[in-house]
Amino acid sequence: MELNLQPLHLPSDNERPIVMAGPCSAETEAQVMQTAQALARKGCHIFRAGLWKPRTKPGGFEGQGQKALPWLKRVKEETGMLIATEVATPQHVELCLKHSIDVLWIGARTTANPFAMQALADSLHGVDIPVLVKNPVNPDLELWIGSMERINRAGIRRLGAIHRGFSSYGGKIYRNSPMWQIPLELRRRIPALPILCDPSHIGGRRELIAPLCQQAMDLGFDGLIVETHHTPDQAWSDAQQQVTPDRLDVILSHLVVRDKQQTVEAIDQLRRQIDDLDNQLIELLSNRMRICREIGRYKREHNITVFQASRYNEILEKRGAQATRCDMSAEFVATVFENVHQESVRQQMKIINQ
Ligand code: PEP
Ligand code: MN
Repeated sequence: MELNLQPLHLPSDNERPIVMAGPCSAETEAQVMQTAQALARKGCHIFRAGLWKPRTKPGGFEGQGQKALPWLKRVKEETGMLIATEVATPQHVELCLKHSIDVLWIGARTTANPFAMQALADSLHGVDIPVLVKNPVNPDLELWIGSMERINRAGIRRLGAIHRGFSSYGGKIYRNSPMWQIPLELRRRIPALPILCDPSHIGGRRELIAPLCQQAMDLGFDGLIVETHHTPDQAWSDAQQQVTPDRLDVILSHLVVRDKQQTVEAIDQLRRQIDDLDNQLIELLSNRMRICREIGRYKREHNITVFQASRYNEILEKRGAQATRCDMSAEFVATVFENVHQESVRQQMKIINQ
C-alpha cells in the first residue's frame, strides 16, 4: 500500500517541530481571542480549537458548533496564525471550507468508523487542504492506515497522522496508553508521512505534557498538538490536561530536538553491531530449540510429560538472578524465558504427538 503524499507545508521555526496549540474547545469569543493572542505573542503559528466535541456521555459540553467559526476567522485575521479544527461529518467539512479554516483534523472516534471516514473522504474530493488523522481509539494500525488511505484516495496529498494514544479499561498512569510501537511501525511502513504527537490526550494530566513532548522528540515525531487555555482550570472540557500559553512556552523552550540526519550517521555503526548480535541471538535460540526437540524425542520414547514445573521454575529463577547481575530487570528476562519456554513446549508437543 502506498500513499501519494506531498509535504504538509505547515509553518514551524527553523528545525523545530510543527506546533499546534489552543483550547480543547472554543467556549466563548473572549476565551478564544485571549488564548490565541497569548499564543501568538509566544510565537505560535497554528491555532487549534474544537467546535464539535465528541463527548463520551450526553449532557457534557458538546461544543459551540458553527457559531464559533467567525471567532476562528477573527483569530486568523488578528494574529496571522493558521486555524485548525476537528471535522466529523461532511457538513463540518463544508462549513470549515466556507469559513477559510486552514487545517482539518479527524478525531479518534471518527477514524475508527470506516463509514464516517468514507463520507468525509467523499466530501474532501478535489479540495487541497492539510488533513491530520488521529489514531483510532483502539490500537489497530491497519484501521488507522485504512482511514488515511480513504482520505488520500480522495486526492488529499497534504496528509499527516496524530498519535493520541489508545483507550483501555481500568486505572493507569496515562489517559490513553501511548503504545509507542504503533506510531513507530507507522513510520517504518510510510516513512514520508508526517506524524504529530498529542501529549494532552495521551497524558490526560498537565504534569505529563512536558515529558511526553520530549519523548515524542526523542522518537523523531514531526510535531506536537497541545491543548492550551488561558485559564485551564476553568475549561469547559478536558480541564486537567490543558496548560497555559506561558507554560507551553516554557515546555517548548526546554525541548531538546534531536537532529534526525546526524543521529542516523552517528549510530549507524552501533546499529550494525546490534544486527550482528541479533543474528547471533537467533542462531543461539535455534540451537537451543534443536536440543529441546532432542529431549522431546526422549520424552516420547520414555513416556514422560512435556511440561515439568520444577525444571521450568529452576530456569526462571536462575535466569532472573543472572539478569540482575548483568544490569537487566529480572522481570524482563523472566518474560524472555517464558516465551522461549513456550516455544520449546510447542516444539516438543509436536514431536510427542507425531
Ligand atoms: C480533541 O483533540 O480535543 C479530541 C477530541 O481528541 P481525540 O479525538 O483524540 O479524543
Ligand atoms: Mn480535548
